Amino acid sequence: MTAPTTEASKTSEPAGADRPLLITIDGPAGAGKTTISRMLAARLDYDYIDTGALYRAVALAATEAGIAGDDDDGLAKLCSALTLGFRRQGDTLRLISNGRDVSDLIRTPELTMQASAISARPVVRLYLLTVQRELGANKKAVFEGRDMGTVVFPEADVKFFLDADLEIRAKRRFNELRADERVALSEVQRQMAERDRNDSTRTLAPLKPAQDAIRIDSTVMNRETVLRRMLTVVSAAAKPSK
Ligand code: C5P
Repeated sequence: MTAPTTEASKTSEPAGADRPLLITIDGPAGAGKTTISRMLAARLDYDYIDTGALYRAVALAATEAGIAGDDDDGLAKLCSALTLGFRRQGDTLRLISNGRDVSDLIRTPELTMQASAISARPVVRLYLLTVQRELGANKKAVFEGRDMGTVVFPEADVKFFLDADLEIRAKRRFNELRADERVALSEVQRQMAERDRNDSTRTLAPLKPAQDAIRIDSTVMNRETVLRRMLTVVSAAAKPSK
């Protein structure tokens, strides 16, 4: 495997500046992690790393190669030949899989469920563990996922766990769907509940808050309020220690 890259430029810190942080945001699907992680990263001028996209890219590669979600040998072979990385384009990072920009191919409902299935396979998690840690080596990043604070970056500087009631999460996700993706709200909720179940019951790296994570419930909180709360925590953590 070739080392993953983010081609974002990160300047070195002047003396006395806030120390660079690695921030993790975990939580179930639809809790608002993506929006908040993007906003937080933009405010801090940090990279935003969407680790769900990495699982989706593996699912896409497996689907294209005709490898079933429970074929561990096939998945192992696939991962050993897969190079994933992000490339900066304007304000966003594009996901590059073996040289191809797959950012616009990984959001279909089928791939969403496929990513959920393959994420339970240890061989895939192990492969992505290395990818993610290499991406986080320089800090100054907000990592969004399910096991960022518990498994991938147990030493992260700041950890958040963002949650909301299932009904609210399903409604938010439903409202994000494009017209050509429309399915009934009840179906969105059913799929979300299934993904929650897959994520929290798998043996390896199940979805759960890290012990030292700051838990935020966004059920009745707007994103500005969530962001403000996070920024308060982050600025305290970024002060250089005396
Ligand atoms: O976040 P997103 O919905 O794009 O993630 C797709 C799937 O990848 C999730 O359903 C989850 O099963 C898996 N995932 C994971 N660990 C992560 C990020 C995503 O298991 N850190």
